[in-house]
Amino acid sequence: MKELKRIPFRLFILLTCLVVVGCPGGEDVTDANDGVAEVRRGILLQYTRQGRLTPAVREKLLTLRTSEALVNYAQQQDEAYLDEVPVDGRLCMKMLEKIVAIGPRYSGSPGMLEQQTILEKHFTEQGGKVQYQRFKARNPVSQQGVETVDMANMIVRWHPERTRRILLCAHYDTRPFPDNDPDPAKRKGLFVGANDGGSGVAVLSALATKFSEFEGGYGVDIVLFDGEELVYNNARDPFFLGSTHFAEQYAAASQKKHQYVAGILLDMVADADLQIYQEINSRRLAPRVVQQVWATAKRLGVAEFKPNARHEVRDDHLPLNRIARIPTIDLIDFDYPSPQKRETYWHTTHDTVDKCSAISMAHVGWVVWEWMQGLK
Ligand SMILES: [Zn+2]
Repeated sequence: MKELKRIPFRLFILLTCLVVVGCPGGEDVTDANDGVAEVRRGILLQYTRQGRLTPAVREKLLTLRTSEALVNYAQQQDEAYLDEVPVDGRLCMKMLEKIVAIGPRYSGSPGMLEQQTILEKHFTEQGGKVQYQRFKARNPVSQQGVETVDMANMIVRWHPERTRRILLCAHYDTRPFPDNDPDPAKRKGLFVGANDGGSGVAVLSALATKFSEFEGGYGVDIVLFDGEELVYNNARDPFFLGSTHFAEQYAAASQKKHQYVAGILLDMVADADLQIYQEINSRRLAPRVVQQVWATAKRLGVAEFKPNARHEVRDDHLPLNRIARIPTIDLIDFDYPSPQKRETYWHTTHDTVDKCSAISMAHVGWVVWEWMQGLK
């Protein structure tokens, strides 16, 4: 995806100051070792961001005196918390690790085929019916005379007899190269796309375990788009090949057997420092879905969903809204890792699994799942 616009920084610095001030731990405890205070502050901030810093947990963190004790306690808390969240964060992480271990998964690559095999098996085991929507795209870089790339959107359906349906989607191709890497020597290196390419797939894989039992009258389709960024040159190569093809096919069907009532696109949703602001195009094109989803997050206390706009992003939701007329929002954390940091892992060799969090993915999945269940 591409970013068009960003709301400036000052507001975020202000908000961060508020969080830090509201977060005792730095000042009122003296530690012999500065490192311990640092570890404690990190945990307190993380729990505050995730909306799960209870007075009891804070109290406990203030009594622990070594980094090891703090880290052990946080790990225990995280494990217990993962048991409580209704979407399985450990399964998200397991799937993420599995597909990232394949390596690059750009359109037409052997890695993409391997990924399809893994996902097809997983979704079938969860009662989904897997189909591929195949098409060819022009290869932006001709390789030994091969001018086209075989593309395939993966469509997985649950409850196919239900004509009113929910669309949940993500792209599952990765960018061919980490061409935004701070080190120019690595820009033709390995890109594994953990957050960008892997995370949406991982969350949808965990959600899929629930869909056979999904009541509420709506059918559910997971659609994984190919060719979101078969892009070697931002100025030259087209984005969103799979979502555009999918949207055109849907729009062209004269007698629709089914109709999508709403859609959610997941992109870059695993960052350990997760903050999902309302994406500007989503607010413009699918305001009702934005409102419903953020109201859901608020009700659940999922604090990573911030109820204000920050980025305007061009992503797969644009063809879905504009061509297919499916009101679809983009859940995306474009500040990777954080609005307070100048660096970004986006399209770099740093977009790896260790930057991602099971709790972040579980939280996103949970909001989506609750939203689906509340749809009237
Ligand atoms: Zn990308």
